[in-house]
Amino acid sequence: MNEIKKMLDNENIKPTYERLSILQYLEKNHNHPTVAMIYEELVKKIPTISKTTVYNSLNLFMEKGIVAPLYITGSEVRYDLSTSQHHHFLCEQCGKIYDLTIDCPYLNKNTIEGHQIKQKHGYFRGICKSCLEKDKSQK
Ligand SMILES: [Zn+2]
Ligand SMILES: [Zn+2]
Repeated sequence: MNEIKKMLDNENIKPTYERLSILQYLEKNHNHPTVAMIYEELVKKIPTISKTTVYNSLNLFMEKGIVAPLYITGSEVRYDLSTSQHHHFLCEQCGKIYDLTIDCPYLNKNTIEGHQIKQKHGYFRGICKSCLEKDKSQK
């Protein structure tokens, strides 16, 4: 919780209970959730929280670079903490988004062919290994 509070302090964002809870959720669950997923989990412990609050907080976090949006599914925005830069793999079968720990020479660079980089998204999609194994065992 202290690390999260520090992130907000650094960006001069008031550390409200809702904001802290949203970041804490992202830190604990590496499931790249949608706004709805975060809301449905948080409303269990904060009955007064609204979807708009979650949405607005995420927008503020993105503006400050604390949270990174993922557009990998093409139909909805998924959210990830931007503390560690990594690429993603979307499974077309189970819909799970995996973090990839592959080496990318551009993850730590700020320019690419003379262009200034502001966001880095490496998207891969296919069938994940656990789905592949399930398919194999069903045959
Ligand atoms: Zn899968
Ligand atoms: Zn990720």
